[in-house]
Amino acid sequence: MKKTKLVIIGSGPAGYTAAIYAARANLAPVLFEGFFSGPAGGQLMTTTEVENYPGFPEGITGPDLMENFRKQALKFGTEVITEDVVSCDFSKRPFVVKSSKTEVEADSVIVATGATAQRLDVEGTRDGEFWQKGVTACAVCDGAMPIFRNKDLYVFGGGDTAVEEALFLTKYASKVFIVLRRDAFRASKIMAQRALKHPKIEVIYHHVLEKVEGNMVVHSLTLKHVQTGAITKKECGGVFFAIGHKPNVEFLGDLLEKETTGYLKVKPGTTQTNIEGVFAAGDVQDHVYRQAITAAGSGCMAALEAERFLSGIE
Ligand code: NAP
Repeated sequence: MKKTKLVIIGSGPAGYTAAIYAARANLAPVLFEGFFSGPAGGQLMTTTEVENYPGFPEGITGPDLMENFRKQALKFGTEVITEDVVSCDFSKRPFVVKSSKTEVEADSVIVATGATAQRLDVEGTRDGEFWQKGVTACAVCDGAMPIFRNKDLYVFGGGDTAVEEALFLTKYASKVFIVLRRDAFRASKIMAQRALKHPKIEVIYHHVLEKVEGNMVVHSLTLKHVQTGAITKKECGGVFFAIGHKPNVEFLGDLLEKETTGYLKVKPGTTQTNIEGVFAAGDVQDHVYRQAITAAGSGCMAALEAERFLSGIE
């Protein structure tokens, strides 16, 4: 069995930043980047232009940014394994991390498996249809693209994220519609009020998405009234899903404590989980900020905390 001081599970900004710091500290980390579980490189691999990551004034594409993260981690000696972790044993040290082919014994582990934006599975929205051609799950990442300028844009979901995304999109859209499947927002009152009062936002109650159509990019959508079944077709330049995220924690079972939201629980202000020597970084433990830069920051924290922990057990 392979042995290492540190295993990092996940290859988004949190995982690779942890790897860069840990590798530079001579911890020779082993990083599982995943294979079937989602794109290696995480959520940025499915975005286009990233304009808000500091250090890139001209912007950079999500995949290019992640390629840079990966190269930097490899340069300092990270070993990357292109497999999915299927189970872990945190009951005693050294911990054991298993993929279908590889088993690694590790003195410490950083879980940085991120979260997955939920998508509606509706005709026209799928991969190979209009996904990333006008249909997206991140207004902050994609909303400024020229295809959305001066168009009617539709946000699905009624939580704080949906309202935040709708408010963000008002900068570019001719009008933003928030579509709720029931008669009320789930968002906090203050956020819901902001949406209701905004002159460029209109709320459509009791409707769900039925279909998205277009040519090269989205040009229309069809909504269905949930009570009457009535169908309405509308012109539309963009469809934004804001129906929540799911942290990628299935492979952990009940090994680590979680918040009621399902995200991993860490001691406030740290990346420490309930098991000493196991840390959690990035979106898997953050349902509030969910930005590449905050994930990278917490990856750095996790590596520094792991280094401190390891020097204490040596
Ligand atoms: P959320 O609060 O769980 O809201 C998800 C929304 O999506 C709900 O309105 C839900 O509708 C809707 N939805 C779910 N499945 C759907 C489906 N199949 N079809 C149509 N609509 C569907 O998720 P979130 O907005 O991402 O927020 C997650 C957490 O992050 C919350 O605790 C939130 O307060 C927090 N957050 C905070 C801030 C902030 O403080 N600035 C910003 C963003 C997020 P129903 O209401 O009908 O169930």
